[in-house]
Amino acid sequence: MVDAAEAAFPAEACGLIIGRGKGQLIRVTRVVPAENLLAETPDRFELDPATRIAVEKDLRDSGTKDRIIGHYHSHTDGTAEPSATDRAMAFEPEMAWLIVGVLDGQAIQTLGHRMDEKRGNFRPVPLRTPKAK
Ligand SMILES: [Zn+2]
Repeated sequence: MVDAAEAAFPAEACGLIIGRGKGQLIRVTRVVPAENLLAETPDRFELDPATRIAVEKDLRDSGTKDRIIGHYHSHTDGTAEPSATDRAMAFEPEMAWLIVGVLDGQAIQTLGHRMDEKRGNFRPVPLRTPKAK
């Protein structure tokens, strides 16, 4: 995700996060980059719905327990906090939002968020990278 974010700079990268698990313990199993349909518009992203449809079909057909658990996108001003636009676009409370802050083409921070419907705002989701074996 960090690589994709840096490669897309100065546009925003985006993609889907596939994983499994429940509640606080969700494990990411795969990341699928998607086309940003708003790549020409600064500070906006719209994930190509065709990618999501294809991934959902693929997951259904394969009978896996994996599902789309969220998506990622990048910010080109270095911030990894959701923008006002992100808040306005958060329709699906079960989706995790991962934001990679890129500044001058280099990813400087990555944060996870999830929409808290009661508060109408994002709350942080802790991220953990498994130790290399
Ligand atoms: Zn954003």
